[in-house]
Amino acid sequence: MKKITIAIDGFSSCGKSTMAKDLARQVGYVYVDTGAMYRAVTLYCIEHNLVADGKVNVDVLRRQMGQIHISFQLNGQTGCPDTYLNGLKVEDRIRGMEVSALVSTVAALDFVREALVRQQKQMGADKGVVMDGRDIGTVVFPDAELKVFVTASAEVRAQRRYDELQAKGEDASFEEILQNVQHRDYVDQHREVSPLVQAADAVVLDNSHMSIAEQNEWLMNQFMQALEK
Ligand code: C5P
Repeated sequence: MKKITIAIDGFSSCGKSTMAKDLARQVGYVYVDTGAMYRAVTLYCIEHNLVADGKVNVDVLRRQMGQIHISFQLNGQTGCPDTYLNGLKVEDRIRGMEVSALVSTVAALDFVREALVRQQKQMGADKGVVMDGRDIGTVVFPDAELKVFVTASAEVRAQRRYDELQAKGEDASFEEILQNVQHRDYVDQHREVSPLVQAADAVVLDNSHMSIAEQNEWLMNQFMQALEK
């Protein structure tokens, strides 16, 4: 059966990963969460003392970039891939506020993006992939057969993130999360290298008032249409 490439881009915490993961599972495609890769590099910086006063030691990170290996392994219990950094599972640690506060700064570094985009292109080289991020339809797979750009209001996104962290027992205030979401939107849209922009040929989805089931159904329809083209 014909396999296609699906690029899902959009703002922070807009539910991209949920819909991308669900579609990949339903159609038997590989799911790649590129945000997790930028988060893993950020965790590396924190754990290797490359951060002081909110600033990253760019020269040391550049030298050590070749020693940072990120991989995904399917978790049999959740049915989703877990993120590994140099062989250690970091799935939970990369989702915390400390990493969230710094990740957009790390993701704006050109050599970090070059290294991760190279890996992402390899991961999707055989098609049959659903990849979510900020630059998938514009930079990583500009020829993807289906491109979706997801958005929702900042308040709705912050509330979803807040509920997610609460469920995990993590302590964070709604205000802090809203500020983080708005800050990441700004940095992602204004950075010099691969800023977050909607690809001209992307289909836009504002899911502010949609349930998970509704957005999954919408994406499945888009997928079926893209397959027929
Ligand atoms: O998707 P998630 O919110 O986990 O991504 C974390 C951060 O990684 C984003 O705020 C963005 O700064 C960065 N990112 C990126 N390019 C991607 C994926 C994520 O710059 N393709």
